[in-house]
Amino acid sequence: MRCDHCGEVIGVYEPAILLTDGGARTTSVAADPSLEHEQGRRFHGSCFAGLHGPGADGASSEP
Ligand SMILES: [Zn+2]
Repeated sequence: MRCDHCGEVIGVYEPAILLTDGGARTTSVAADPSLEHEQGRRFHGSCFAGLHGPGADGASSEP
């Protein structure tokens, strides 16, 4: 299972975000093995936070 943002593998015990039409769900493969087979986009928790979290309103956070 790879992150839709950075393309890196998401470890089974890492926080993972499943983004579907119904919204975003925070889980992990360890907690929810069916995650790999569900419809939707998958992100690392940290990648999703960077995309959609506080500060993701278009303001530049680049160095
Ligand atoms: Zn990622």
